[in-house]
Amino acid sequence: MAILPWRTALLACSCLLAACPGGAVLVPVDEDPGLFVAPAGAGGPAEPTSFPEVRFDVGAGGGAGAPFAGGAPSSTQPVVADAGASASETPGASDAGPRVPPADAGGLDAGGADAGEGVSGQGDAGGVGPLPTDAGPAAGGPVSAHTALGLPDDSAVGRLDRWLLVKPQFVSSYDTTRKTPRWVAWRLDASWLGTATRATSFRRDAQLPATAGQARDEDFRNSGFDRGHLCPSADRTRTDPDNDATFVFTNVVPQTRASNAGTWATLEDDARGFVQQGKSVMLVAGPVFGVTTQNVGSGVPVPLSTFKVAVVFDGPQVGAGAVTTSTRVIGVVVPNTASVSGDWRSHRVSVRAIEQLTGLDFLADVPRAVQDVVETRVDALP
Ligand code: MN
Repeated sequence: MAILPWRTALLACSCLLAACPGGAVLVPVDEDPGLFVAPAGAGGPAEPTSFPEVRFDVGAGGGAGAPFAGGAPSSTQPVVADAGASASETPGASDAGPRVPPADAGGLDAGGADAGEGVSGQGDAGGVGPLPTDAGPAAGGPVSAHTALGLPDDSAVGRLDRWLLVKPQFVSSYDTTRKTPRWVAWRLDASWLGTATRATSFRRDAQLPATAGQARDEDFRNSGFDRGHLCPSADRTRTDPDNDATFVFTNVVPQTRASNAGTWATLEDDARGFVQQGKSVMLVAGPVFGVTTQNVGSGVPVPLSTFKVAVVFDGPQVGAGAVTTSTRVIGVVVPNTASVSGDWRSHRVSVRAIEQLTGLDFLADVPRAVQDVVETRVDALP
């Protein structure tokens, strides 16, 4: 594992996201134009974002550009890859192979499994062969306990714009062409909460092949944006490896400090509060993109907002079969702006609205008739 110092040069930001692969319609959010009119590459406001002295494993290849051949709706994306990257690489062209965990590594009780990350070298197992055909979302339950309510889309290992990363601690669908997750799903219950100390540095997710696009620490440095966790660090404190596992870029989006430490954090806190009441929560969170051109670093797009879907169960029993029409289902869309304020309750929307915004299908394994009730209702509980 090569430990290299920061590379400070080379923040060339020539990326032009000609189109947003998600094709999402913009939600009417409380935008702060001041935050988004910065010239390309200039980064956001100079908020004092804390970046500890980080040394990290840049891995073989040091972070490659994305081939932009993913199955995104728009196939006309002349996006410039990272400076220094080989844009013509395809994952299959490398013998590094994807580092996928053994199929059974997703067990919820495998608290220490993260220790093997980055050194497992599973060869081409699960590899990057032909992309799966679009057969619709697979059943989420068999994939991981974190997706027991269903996979939100047809993510799979090897799909460049929706690479499925099943971990003991959470499941991420990572868009290697955009270098942000599409969504991250995790189960939260008392078993995940402990006294682990918060990790201090982010690293490349070694579960993706080195040739796959992935954000880097440099992309965020001096950008004015936080490296915003989707699965929060504080939701994974059972062991130090569990906490450390959340500090990967496949769990991160560029997020304003106002959201990350403010509005967004209030729902993270309250979800853990539900757990303190004996409840269990199934969560999915991700970015919402619109027609935005702001990037940080080497072309990591800044989401306009972030969404979260939280399904609250009264006890430890979770799963698609445990969802009824009276189950509390919370949907929020939090503007990723410097001026967002207040707590999550003022940003509630129906889950159906988030589905329309993102093209994802939450609670996909829940009977459709039940989805139609709980997803069209806007949570109004205190
Ligand atoms: Mn749904």
